[in-house]
Amino acid sequence: MVPSRRTWNLGATPSLRGLWRGGRAGEPEPGMARPAPASPAARPFPHTGPGRLRTGRGRDSPAGGDEDSSTRSAARPALAQCRALSVDWASPGSPHRLYLTLQVEHLKQKLISQAQEVSRLRSELGGTDLEKHRDLLIVENERLRQEMRRCEAELQEMRAKPAVPCTGCEHSQESAQLRDKLSQLQLEVAENKGLLSELNLEVQQKTDRLAEVELRLKDCLAEKAQEEERLSRRLRDSHETIASLRAQSPPVKYVMKTVEVESSKTKQALSESQARNQHLQEQVAMQRQVLKEMEQQLQSSHQLTAQLRAQITMYELELERAHGQMLEEMQSLEEDKNRAIEEAFARAQVEMKAVHENLAGVRTNLLTLQPALRTLTNDYNGLKRQVRGFPLLLQEALKSVKAEIGQAIDEVNSNNQELLRKYRRELQLRKKCHNELVRLKGNIRVIARVRPVTKEDGEGPEATNAVTFDPDDDSIIHLLHKGKPVSFELDKVFSPKASQQDVFQEVQALITSCIDGFNVCIFAYGQTGAGKTYTMEGTLENPGINQRALQLLFSEVQEKASDWEYTITVSAAEIYNEVLRDLLGQEPQEKLEIRLCPDGSGQLYVPGLTEFQVQSVEDINKVFEFGHTNRTTEFTNLNEHSSRSHALLIVTVHGVDGSTGLRTTGKLNLVDLAGSERVGKSGAEGSRLREAQHINKSLSALGDVIAALRSRQGHVPFRNSKLTYLLQDSLSGDSKTLMVVQVSPVEKNTSETLYSLKFAERVRSVELGPGSRRAELASWSSQEHLEWEPACQTPQPSARAHSAPGSGTTSRPGSIRRKLQPSA
Ligand code: ADP
Ligand code: MG
Repeated sequence: MVPSRRTWNLGATPSLRGLWRGGRAGEPEPGMARPAPASPAARPFPHTGPGRLRTGRGRDSPAGGDEDSSTRSAARPALAQCRALSVDWASPGSPHRLYLTLQVEHLKQKLISQAQEVSRLRSELGGTDLEKHRDLLIVENERLRQEMRRCEAELQEMRAKPAVPCTGCEHSQESAQLRDKLSQLQLEVAENKGLLSELNLEVQQKTDRLAEVELRLKDCLAEKAQEEERLSRRLRDSHETIASLRAQSPPVKYVMKTVEVESSKTKQALSESQARNQHLQEQVAMQRQVLKEMEQQLQSSHQLTAQLRAQITMYELELERAHGQMLEEMQSLEEDKNRAIEEAFARAQVEMKAVHENLAGVRTNLLTLQPALRTLTNDYNGLKRQVRGFPLLLQEALKSVKAEIGQAIDEVNSNNQELLRKYRRELQLRKKCHNELVRLKGNIRVIARVRPVTKEDGEGPEATNAVTFDPDDDSIIHLLHKGKPVSFELDKVFSPKASQQDVFQEVQALITSCIDGFNVCIFAYGQTGAGKTYTMEGTLENPGINQRALQLLFSEVQEKASDWEYTITVSAAEIYNEVLRDLLGQEPQEKLEIRLCPDGSGQLYVPGLTEFQVQSVEDINKVFEFGHTNRTTEFTNLNEHSSRSHALLIVTVHGVDGSTGLRTTGKLNLVDLAGSERVGKSGAEGSRLREAQHINKSLSALGDVIAALRSRQGHVPFRNSKLTYLLQDSLSGDSKTLMVVQVSPVEKNTSETLYSLKFAERVRSVELGPGSRRAELASWSSQEHLEWEPACQTPQPSARAHSAPGSGTTSRPGSIRRKLQPSA
């Protein structure tokens, strides 16, 4: 196994192999990459396709050997071909350019890694990995040899000293104890032996003394017996003498007397002998007593000796047993030791075998490593040379690639410019088409919504339904007014069954166009109680156009977030008795004025009108709530007040296209108009009359403006009411208007319904073509007389161009084309 590092195998990379090929014709190992740093000029550039060669700027130098020059001459046709085809290389987006870029990246990385490798090798080893490995193996080998020698020595030592008690053995302690005990017992035995010999000596002494005493006693007895015999003999002699004397009478007396005298002497001797006998007997008794004592002593001594003998035999037995035990243990220890030695020996043999094998492996490894090491050293040297020559090559490659990239970037730039131009053109075309579509549908669209009959309508004939629909055409509405059926055609008619979402669907397109930079107005028109507020605001559970529009804006803006950045701001205002008030301001009672911009641009703005930036439905709800609170605290009877005032929600959408820098501003005006009922005609007085006059004036002005726009008059009377003046830029130009005419279905409201529907039809006819418009007007005129006349119908050419454009707050009026100017 030859360890090799991947980073060395630079030549294995097909592209680099091509690079080095010029300098390594004479190298022996084809599998090994050993690039030689030939002159950079002689190296053909790597390539994938046929005929796509590239030179190092044609610097063919004569450096290198014969092989080099032959390789170079072989590469020359390819070189020439490459030069001939060099135009293709420069083409932008060509795979070769990409390939070259990658190549350069790759070469850079290679260079870095090689430089690191070289420095690492230099600093760490001063040689190659293989050398390091070989050194390690040699050290390992040496260590193993030493280990082996040590093992052998140990083994021999073990063999030489088999009796050496093992110190770590589990029996050693027991053995030591036993040995101690044995020595103790031996000591005791020695002691007892001493005692025994002492006793024996004593016994011997006593026996000697006894023998002496016996001898003396025998002597004494023999002496006594002799004395007794002598005495008895004398006595017998005496008795015989006495008897003989008695037989000789006178002399006998004398003799007797002499005998008697002699007998007293004898008697005295006798008593003396008796006393001596007595004394001797006493002495004998005494001696007998002593003898007895001594016999007793001897007996006890014998007993003690027997006891001691028994103890000694017991000790001896114990000693023998201990000795046997010790022998057994020593034997088992010996066996254990032998076994351990055998095992150790076997292990050592196995280890030695393994070591031998290892050694053999290492030897073979070393043998195989040597050529590999040589090859790698060659490789390393080659690489070193390459690394030295590499920066030059890289610099060259980089220079050419840079030039190509620069060219490509230029081309891409010009392409981008072209694409941008096309994109802008397309964008404008799309806007135009959309605009055209909405225009074709009518810039001013009118729909009617009939609310359901409610409890508030009461009961009886007055509360009967007077409105019917055409089942085949959803733009027709029929009204039975004073027993006479009247029909109206609008853009769409929603029956009471229509949901908030159904109505909103009709509005959706306008809201989308607001994101595109158009100004949009949505009005809810109709008598009080016809459902204007319901359609615009709705309820919490079932929101109306206002909230749905903002929700749609959020989702649309989110969808476009990758390209466009949008800001949505909201203002809320109301117009009551021709006074404009900010519903979101801190001072809602403050009158606001609509002013011309001081910059002379002719645009309008409302100083002090609060704008809130909103980003979520929660934000909108907060804004609505705030506006509602402002209105509630200001007016005691909100319902009545709201029916007498116009409520405006102004949503401004500013957009910036991140890629083109295009800016758009669209304004969405959502207007809940004051009740359209003709109070003034029913003889109202005081403030009620003033309110009615203001409402009438502003609604008439709205009608006038629409009529003027319809007939393309030069002068549009925006300034006739605060409402039209404020909405000027959202009503003119490319702006789009939707009028939702709210209708009450019941019998008692038919007059107002008729009035509302007439107004609606009149407004609707505005943006139609002249011919059809006239026809519509004719048909309407024949049905009913219009009670309300436009205030200004006189054509005033060319004035509109100056007065129409302007801005209420922030956005620019007029053409979308003007809004789509790039900011940069
Ligand atoms: P306006 O704002 O025109 O004075 P409102 O919106 O206040 O009228 O509506 C009057 C009443 O009719 C309210 O109670 C409202 O809930 C109800 N209403 C109006 N339109 C509808 C409808 N489409 N569906 C159900 N109820 C409606
Ligand atoms: Mg209302």
